Amino acid sequence: MRIVYVNGEWVDEVNAQISVFDRGFTFADAIYEVTAMVGGKLIDFEGHAARLARSLASLNIPCPVTRDELLALHREIAERNNFTDGAIYLQISRGAEDRDFIYSPNLTPTFVMYTQARNVLDNPKWQTGIGVISMPEGRWVNRQIKTVQLLYSSLAKMEAHERGAEDVLFIEDGKVTEAGSSNAYIVTKDGVVVTRELSNALLHGITRASLMDIARKAQIKVEERAFTIEEAKNAAEVFLSSATALIMPVVAIDGEPVGTGKPGPLTARLRELYIEDRLANAI
Ligand code: PLP
Repeated sequence: MRIVYVNGEWVDEVNAQISVFDRGFTFADAIYEVTAMVGGKLIDFEGHAARLARSLASLNIPCPVTRDELLALHREIAERNNFTDGAIYLQISRGAEDRDFIYSPNLTPTFVMYTQARNVLDNPKWQTGIGVISMPEGRWVNRQIKTVQLLYSSLAKMEAHERGAEDVLFIEDGKVTEAGSSNAYIVTKDGVVVTRELSNALLHGITRASLMDIARKAQIKVEERAFTIEEAKNAAEVFLSSATALIMPVVAIDGEPVGTGKPGPLTARLRELYIEDRLANAI
């Protein structure tokens, strides 16, 4: 049984309560963040804290905590759950009031946190890689805001699962935006890592930002531009990045093998560099 955080209180998960009129529930009027913890230390905490503030500001929801309070809550939830490895989730909604599209300006945000244990540093799928399917982009246009509107992605990943794959690449105007819950990359046959430039078309991944810096420092060529699904299918390597899966090789798209059909060497190297650098900077 986990202990979760709800609006300033620590409660057993079965006793946790929020209102049926919470706008996160009625209107998906809420944002979330996910930070990985490895060996009791937080990976990329500053990036996640900064994106949390940006997401809230975009929706004009007041941020209920300072950066220091947020860090203290992460440490406390880990301690209360004897938690050292996995994902720490937080969700903040605009708050609760009687159902109405027009909301009151001064609602008190609802703030919940919970842990999900997993071995972040030892993912068996890194060895095999995963298959993905391409699907039309169907999410709303402000994908740079990390909202809890995850229904389209959930349905898409469910379809991938039913078709024997693990994830999706969303396609808009012929170009890949990102994956169901990660950013997408190709490695060209010349060894250039390509990932879509930042815009409202995709979430500005914290793992992506760190990885770009790390790759450039290691003299690996990086290009930020959109790529087509055909380029991905013909690439030397394809991979995804996210806080919990880190750097995940993609070995098939729409049932066709990518490159050799096995996880690629540059993907593996980038994952090693990422892990080494981020563990050294974990707090
Ligand atoms: N893109 C989407 C749609 C996501 O949901 C996520 C993570 O949940 C990412 C990208 C990767 O972001 P991060 O590296 O910050 O986890």
